[in-house]
Amino acid sequence: MLEIGVLVFATLASLGYFCRTVARRLAPMLRAKERNLAFDRLPARLWTVFAEVMLQTRVIRERPAAGVLHALVMWGFFAFAWVSIEHFATGLGGFEPPASGHSWYSAFAGAWAVAVLAGIVGLSFRRFVLRPKALGEHLSLTSALVALLIVGLMVTYLADWRLLEAGSDAWKANWWLHTAALLGMLWLIPNSKHLHLVLGPVAIFFRGEVTSPMRALRDEDDDDFGMLAFADLSQKDVLDVNSCVECGRCTDSCPANLIGGSLDPKQIVLQLQRGLLAGGEVIAADAEAVASGEAWISEEDLYQCFTCGACEQACPVGIEHVGLKILDLRRGLVSEGRTSNDKLSDMFTTMERSPHNAWGASQQVRRKLLESAGLPIHEPETEWLLWLGCGCSYDPHGQQVVKAMQRILDSAGVSWGVLASETCCGEPARRAGNEYLYMELSERLVSEFRSKGVRKLVTCDPHCARMFDVDYRQSEDFAQLGIEVVHHSELLAKLVESLPMEPSASKVTFHDPCYLARGRGVVDEPREVLQAAGAEVVEMRHHAAQTFCCGAGGAQLYIADDSVELPGGRVNYKRFEEAQQTGADTIAVACPYCPIMLKDAAGQAGAEDVRVVDVAELVAEALPTPEPGPATVS
Ligand code: SF4
Ligand code: SF4
Repeated sequence: MLEIGVLVFATLASLGYFCRTVARRLAPMLRAKERNLAFDRLPARLWTVFAEVMLQTRVIRERPAAGVLHALVMWGFFAFAWVSIEHFATGLGGFEPPASGHSWYSAFAGAWAVAVLAGIVGLSFRRFVLRPKALGEHLSLTSALVALLIVGLMVTYLADWRLLEAGSDAWKANWWLHTAALLGMLWLIPNSKHLHLVLGPVAIFFRGEVTSPMRALRDEDDDDFGMLAFADLSQKDVLDVNSCVECGRCTDSCPANLIGGSLDPKQIVLQLQRGLLAGGEVIAADAEAVASGEAWISEEDLYQCFTCGACEQACPVGIEHVGLKILDLRRGLVSEGRTSNDKLSDMFTTMERSPHNAWGASQQVRRKLLESAGLPIHEPETEWLLWLGCGCSYDPHGQQVVKAMQRILDSAGVSWGVLASETCCGEPARRAGNEYLYMELSERLVSEFRSKGVRKLVTCDPHCARMFDVDYRQSEDFAQLGIEVVHHSELLAKLVESLPMEPSASKVTFHDPCYLARGRGVVDEPREVLQAAGAEVVEMRHHAAQTFCCGAGGAQLYIADDSVELPGGRVNYKRFEEAQQTGADTIAVACPYCPIMLKDAAGQAGAEDVRVVDVAELVAEALPTPEPGPATVS
């Protein structure tokens, strides 16, 4: 009876401690003003949890060897659920050995115990002997203790199953050891990264389909200027920072970190966690304030981000670093006037001035394009608005892409037109944190779309596509217009079948733009278009959703300081090297910024002969040469 009493007391105390600690860590979720836990797409969300938790797909894909070892431990835990229930039932039932002592299930669990031991020994070897940089410099005491407890659980199970006589003193002592290991986990898990065992599946359930968007600010009465203080963390942020498994996959995938920058997405999450636990107040400020303990994350780190979304793609527990945290913190800094970045101020000033684009380019440049190419102007009865965006309006290569689109759309008999004049959609302003400027530009454009009767919009710029399809839709005024938004690769994938194409063979590698592959989830369409144009597509090491940034996103095209040389070189140089390794003579792109970055890298590498072309240009090249018109006699 005494033993049962001890068991009940120890179990209740451990469970009570576990629940109280988890509740304390999650309490800020109840106070969060931003309640952003979404339950839409329920079947898809449940499927993702099944695939990523039960099947461990993402963990294995990102790091195959460590992923398989982790999966062995995880699957072993599932197999041991029934064993644990039976184990406590044995104690509470007066220590009567279960009749199922040598059942098929105990043999099954025995096999899993061996697999878990293999997994945990392998993971411990990696963590404590190989010590990869991504896991951090410090040896984690809790990780060591949890590993020991798992080994203890498995060894005591195997001893119970095969070595000890059921009901003997040794059997009972072993039973208590197993119990102590189980209950010990309840004391360790909530105070360590192992809390991900509980919260990871929940964070995965609530993760979005694509790179996390910036949230809409709450209405003006709510004093919402972006994220400034820990009190501004949203529900998903609190869930995220408590779910981090500290694996460093995000940092390993981060191009800014890879080239030697100080931005470390894992540390962004862990600093938020530490600050939250310590009752911190201000989250972000300059490096000096961080060093003196007044803030937790530096402005310098936040403004190194390319917003490429590789960190979110790599994260095994669904943590959303980009729109929800990094960009909201940038917005908080700008709203409070706390940024000290001159390049940033210059970009905002340029955009504030007419004609409102970050290039500072005159509308005259765009007007000349419209006139020389004879681009049709969108009328209310026109089906598609071809939105040029700044890249295709002012960059010479971007303008060639527009002319290629003109040939394709005309060949396909599509009804289309462009706006007579365009301002920037506000993308660089919003990504850099200037919400006010973005609002100004977007409101002007929404009324323009309304007055022109725009119903369908196609753009060659995935940044603009994401702005209209995600950011603008947060505004009721835009949402009411019900405008369909597509990237040109999506429209081209539908049109190529009906185009009179004469494909010509070429070896092409496709550079997936981050805002298309991860920001929009589009990876197949551009490849279908290339194949229709006769291309043999050879893939780079990083491709599709695992693509690697060209270095232009997150407003870096405008704000990056080119005079700063980082030890790891430049992101665009690295990407160009990867493209060259495929042996392709053409790099296909689907964004006006990527060719700027890749051509710069080609020049640096002395490889100007490598072609960098948009998918639309390759399609236009495959179209028959237009018959010359009848000669005019003056
Ligand atoms: S979005 Fe890209 S650059 Fe920014 S932290 Fe994530 S991986 Fe690094
Ligand atoms: S944020 Fe995600 S990927 Fe990064 S360390 Fe934490 S769990 Fe790993």
